[in-house]
Amino acid sequence: MQGFITLRLLLVVTIIMIISAGIIFGCLPDRDPAPAIFTDDESTPEQAEDLPVFEDSEGSIDDETADDLEDQQDEEADEEDRGQLSESGEETMGGSSSAGNGESGFDRDSLDVIADGDYLLALVSKETTLKSDYKPSDLQRIPSYMNSSHTTIYLRAEALTKLEQLWEAAEADGVNLLRIRSAYRSYSTQDRLFSDYASRHGEAQANRFSARPGQSEHQLGTTVDFGGTSVDFQAAYADTEQGRWLADNAHLYGFVMSYPAGKEHITGYIFEPWHYRYIGVNAAMEWKQSGKTLIEFLETKPQTFQ
Ligand SMILES: [Zn+2]
Repeated sequence: MQGFITLRLLLVVTIIMIISAGIIFGCLPDRDPAPAIFTDDESTPEQAEDLPVFEDSEGSIDDETADDLEDQQDEEADEEDRGQLSESGEETMGGSSSAGNGESGFDRDSLDVIADGDYLLALVSKETTLKSDYKPSDLQRIPSYMNSSHTTIYLRAEALTKLEQLWEAAEADGVNLLRIRSAYRSYSTQDRLFSDYASRHGEAQANRFSARPGQSEHQLGTTVDFGGTSVDFQAAYADTEQGRWLADNAHLYGFVMSYPAGKEHITGYIFEPWHYRYIGVNAAMEWKQSGKTLIEFLETKPQTFQ
């Protein structure tokens, strides 16, 4: 009799354990692997922290002053690391590099060398490169009202003139563009920046948000990164009043958003709603009409390689 009771007790306990286990496991969330890569910061905070990003850090004027600026640039670059990979990253991640050169397949010698970096319509892509010693000859400092940082930022003369007009036009529309985060960057600065990102994220990954040296539009001296918001270097910049105004109006002053949303398979870069390149007013108007990405548009223009 006692044995029977013990057996029943054992049975009841076992049943309770089975039911409990069912409840516990039933409540567990899906154990699907987390997406290999970045979605937005809220959904995957840890990953997002790990996988920073963007392409940008401050520009330096030239090699003489580069060393002086190095520390400052490093500071800025670190600051920028707070940025996050953006929406367009979601589509191709996991599978990884849909565009550009693979982790080990990069071969600088196979690239077309851009003959003249001064040419406003020069095709800067992952298949072309500027010469390592190319540096625009007419760089000018951007005025302090556009640059609240301690770093000096340079842009080519014509692009700067148009940027000033654009800035005023935004102001007239009640939009303060706040500040330029980065403009001209030398080959060596880009080299250092890309190496740093590549060492932390791997080359293929880094190349989604940062250009290899020679392949950055920033080396042209005609490209700016707008910022000064709480979402600098993030896809969310597109939804700020500054980002919206620029998307609607920048082309009127010759500036084009190089890396739009959902076009990573064409441009090779994630969505960068803060990054604008000056190509001249007429060309920018024509580009707008075309509905193409900048890279596709420039492919229709004469290019000279050496
Ligand atoms: Zn940029």
